[in-house]
Amino acid sequence: MTRLLAQSELESFPNLEWPEVAPRLDVGVRAAMEQVMETLDGATLTRAQCLLLAGSEGDDLLGLLVAANHLRRELSGNLVTYVVNRNINFTNVCFVGCKFCAFSRGPRESDTYFLTPEQVGQKALQAWEVGATEVCIQGGLPHGLPPFYYRDILRAVKKVTPGMHIHAFSPMEIVYGVELTGMALDDYLRMLKDNGLDTLPGTAAEILDDDVRFVLSRNKLTTEQWKQVIRTAHGCGIRSTSTLMYGHVETTEHWVNQLLLLRQIQQETGGFTEFVPLGFVHRNTLLFHQGIARPGPTLAEHLKVHALARVLLAGAINNIQVSWVKLNCDLSRLCLQAGANDYGGTLMEENISREAGATAGQYTSPEDFQSLILEAGRIPAERNTTYSKINIKLPLEDLVAEQSLEPEFA
Ligand code: SF4
Repeated sequence: MTRLLAQSELESFPNLEWPEVAPRLDVGVRAAMEQVMETLDGATLTRAQCLLLAGSEGDDLLGLLVAANHLRRELSGNLVTYVVNRNINFTNVCFVGCKFCAFSRGPRESDTYFLTPEQVGQKALQAWEVGATEVCIQGGLPHGLPPFYYRDILRAVKKVTPGMHIHAFSPMEIVYGVELTGMALDDYLRMLKDNGLDTLPGTAAEILDDDVRFVLSRNKLTTEQWKQVIRTAHGCGIRSTSTLMYGHVETTEHWVNQLLLLRQIQQETGGFTEFVPLGFVHRNTLLFHQGIARPGPTLAEHLKVHALARVLLAGAINNIQVSWVKLNCDLSRLCLQAGANDYGGTLMEENISREAGATAGQYTSPEDFQSLILEAGRIPAERNTTYSKINIKLPLEDLVAEQSLEPEFA
């Protein structure tokens, strides 16, 4: 039987090298890993091999983490990127009722709020004035929303900050906007693009399996609708992120299915900018308190999801993000050594994870990001939303001298 690792053994993986760990691995796990490290292409794995890796424990899990770190170095270099951004959640009123969400409120609760498009614009302007390049705009879905409210937000933000990148509206919000306006999906997305929408968050994915979705949220868009919104957006030239929520009721097979689906969509459209594993924050959620979900991911699950994503998505989606707001600093650093290469956004005003019980805070300054990245032995770099502009934040000569780092870049 496979031995489960103690926490200290698991946390020791960054000190291991592949030649040291490889002889201890199951033959099939070793062969699968060597295949991807040689080709730098996760598509060379069969589904059975992917499932084998997803089930790895003990030494096999250590091997997966070490191999993922190797692949990260080969595919994304030693930079750790981040984007200076602000989250704007324009309302917390929502009728959808996801059981994993502690952010939403019913319309008659005492602490509801609703921002006008102009108020959203003002928040974007404040962020621009302190150096943000992106606003990430999502919110609850209230009944009776003005049909063109999402368009009006875009107009209000672009009016006061024409250069701001607008990363906004989950596929669930897009489906709601289509319902409110009666427009065809592609016409609606093009209309949003014409009014300033730059990219979509690939959220509302959770687990893309309708049986699991029914447990998490009966009113949420279906897997087919999520895929349709994403494919249509990419077809309209609107790129998106991709996500997976782990640590609740799902199995490792769901992880594999989702990663393979995202990989397939990427091969068709090339529209994903990154993959973001989102650990379930359980504390203040119905899903946990009704005894339906486990209490969030274990350390092994956090590390395994990031590593598995790096391996299975290798060559297709090469940016794997750590969602620092759901993890603490130490765990974020470990995930950066298990395949991740991006720290996400500085996120002024993060509300959603905080309400669910996450304690990592609402904002990390660019300077703090830089220190955390240097402590992890990597090179900090500010990026734009689509990774097309990367700005290393410290002089390379100083950095190499101070940190004894090899300058390896993607
Ligand atoms: S996750 Fe989004 S859609 Fe679901 S209840 Fe919360 S705010 Fe509403």
